[in-house]
Amino acid sequence: MGDINVYTGPMKCGKSNKIIAEAKRQMIAGKKIMIFKPGIDTRFAKDYIVDRNGNKLKSENITNIEEIQNYDADVYVIDEFQFLKGNVDCIEKMAEKGKKFYIAGLNLTSERKPFGQMGDLLCVSDNVQTMTSICEVCKRDNAIFSFYKLDDKDGDIRIGDAEYIPVCRECYNELKSREKE
Ligand SMILES: [Zn+2]
Repeated sequence: MGDINVYTGPMKCGKSNKIIAEAKRQMIAGKKIMIFKPGIDTRFAKDYIVDRNGNKLKSENITNIEEIQNYDADVYVIDEFQFLKGNVDCIEKMAEKGKKFYIAGLNLTSERKPFGQMGDLLCVSDNVQTMTSICEVCKRDNAIFSFYKLDDKDGDIRIGDAEYIPVCRECYNELKSREKE
């Protein structure tokens, strides 16, 4: 049996860093590894997954989750999972056939709704690590939401992350109430 391991939380919580570290660990162990990210994500680099510490690994661009089935590997690493289309069935089936998964993604949109297929993924995962960021308003280490700073409601398909800040529950509510004024 394989397994499905997911790192989730708001932006800037270190999710990509976790999967890159895990990918390197598996490579050193001699596992055949494939790394994917949504083609839509060109934030830092086109054909690499990149973390905020400058670590990067070569990746394939995909649009649908099902596309990973076209690649043979022992270990599948996926970044920015929330932007992928399709559904998680193939991941479950592949895990049942012995494949291992390390996946990072935002759990919530800036409107605090489940982001893409992340909700479904979390429900079928063996291990979920929900991480926090430093709240950019009060500076406590308890940010669980990504707040969209501009008043534009198609927020969940935006990629550039300069417009988003990680915030705690208290500061999120405070910012939202100011928006309504
Ligand atoms: Zn706060």
